Amino acid sequence: MLTTFKTKVVGVDIRSEVTKLAVVDIRGNIIGSANFNTLDYPDVNNYVSVLSDQIVTLVEANGGYENIRSVGISVPSGNFKLASIVNSPNMPWKGVVPMAAMLRDRLGLAVALGNNAHVMALGEHAYGSAHGLTDFIIVTIGSGLGSCIFSNGRPHLGVDGFAGEVGHTCVRRDGRQCGCGKKGCLETYTAAKGIVMTAHEVMDERPDVPSLMRQVEILTPRIITEFCDKGDELAIETYRRTGEILGLGLANYASVLNPQAIIFTGGVSRAGDWLLKPAYEVFEKYVFQNAAGKVDFVPSVIDDDYRNVLGAAVLAWDVPEYSLFK
Ligand SMILES: [Zn+2]
Repeated sequence: MLTTFKTKVVGVDIRSEVTKLAVVDIRGNIIGSANFNTLDYPDVNNYVSVLSDQIVTLVEANGGYENIRSVGISVPSGNFKLASIVNSPNMPWKGVVPMAAMLRDRLGLAVALGNNAHVMALGEHAYGSAHGLTDFIIVTIGSGLGSCIFSNGRPHLGVDGFAGEVGHTCVRRDGRQCGCGKKGCLETYTAAKGIVMTAHEVMDERPDVPSLMRQVEILTPRIITEFCDKGDELAIETYRRTGEILGLGLANYASVLNPQAIIFTGGVSRAGDWLLKPAYEVFEKYVFQNAAGKVDFVPSVIDDDYRNVLGAAVLAWDVPEYSLFK
């Protein structure tokens, strides 16, 4: 039988503010892309309808629907095994949203869905800093701290697909309140809000020390990084403390998993050495002796704008083809 090989997939990166979609070919080239405002569609049925229309328009302009094999979706709180978004604290749609099935029924194409850390790990493995690695951890730090474990060359997702929640492991008993309901989670010290909270603690503790941070009404990790670059003592101290807690959390994680590398992505990881140097020092101090000196800390090399659509494309290639018309 003569079969035609479909040479393209669609990668979709759903974030709380913007949804990006791209047609990606088998070599990982982005052939065309589009985006729209996620927040414009608080009703998930409207959202899926618009996403479906956008995909059809984009693929018709980039080689045609008949060349598209499948669709992959990256979304916070996505669960690959349930092909659904599950109880997302940050997305407009609550509860369990079977997004992959909803989109599949509209498009007549196979649709796979994974959380953003899972999808990033696939992208890093295929095209980025994890190329050729079999055992690594991807850590993404932004408004939260997510991670994905790669083991024996495959993502390790856990029995229900929720593996990798190192952001919600406890690093301080009775510590800061976390959005998950528990106290002292790693994320409450090392993600964006927690870093800003630490900056205020540092300023309050040392009122005699001048700091550029005192002149800013709304601090962000990015601004704190800029002040570090200018030599601001308290900004540097903020990332030093953050890095210490991050290093401890990751040392425990790596002692359990024995990875070759930890790859960092996400807005907060742009702090670079201000964060990762103190984190690595503490990591080396606490990681199990046989792993000490053997775990690389690596920033992602993939362009931030395209990391998730590329990862979602890898996810799309990995699912069996599906057609309503077969
Ligand atoms: Zn938590």
